[in-house]
Amino acid sequence: MEECELCGGKIDSVYGINVEGVELRVCSSCARGKRIVYREDRRSAKKEAAARQAKPRKEEFEMVDNYGLKIRKARESMRLPLKVLAELINEKESLLVRVENESTLPTEALTRKLEKTLNIKLEQQVEIDEKNARRDRKESATLGEFVG
Ligand SMILES: [Zn+2]
Repeated sequence: MEECELCGGKIDSVYGINVEGVELRVCSSCARGKRIVYREDRRSAKKEAAARQAKPRKEEFEMVDNYGLKIRKARESMRLPLKVLAELINEKESLLVRVENESTLPTEALTRKLEKTLNIKLEQQVEIDEKNARRDRKESATLGEFVG
């Protein structure tokens, strides 16, 4: 088992901390109050790589599947013509057409407006530790370098 670089204790969950520009792998008690740059548990050293590649906060959310359909259904159930919805949220009708066709991904601001106006949820939270790590691993696996 790995040892903490600060206290020498055995580590269950490794915390990567940054102390004055130096990265250290330490135990959870030594990590307390420090700037933690990544975390991994001992089951998988590969998580370190995944954590380093972790996407910025904003992208922990992604659009639900069929967001266009969801928007259109919600809009139709409220009997809101596209034109009216566009006016309501102060956007171009042509943009909303593209979003409903899913040929355009709505911006974050537009997503918020649509969610609020239509009372729907268009984003799902992605648990960065698990799902993204798994996804990154899958992508990396094609490189054939993550063996063992
Ligand atoms: Zn320690």
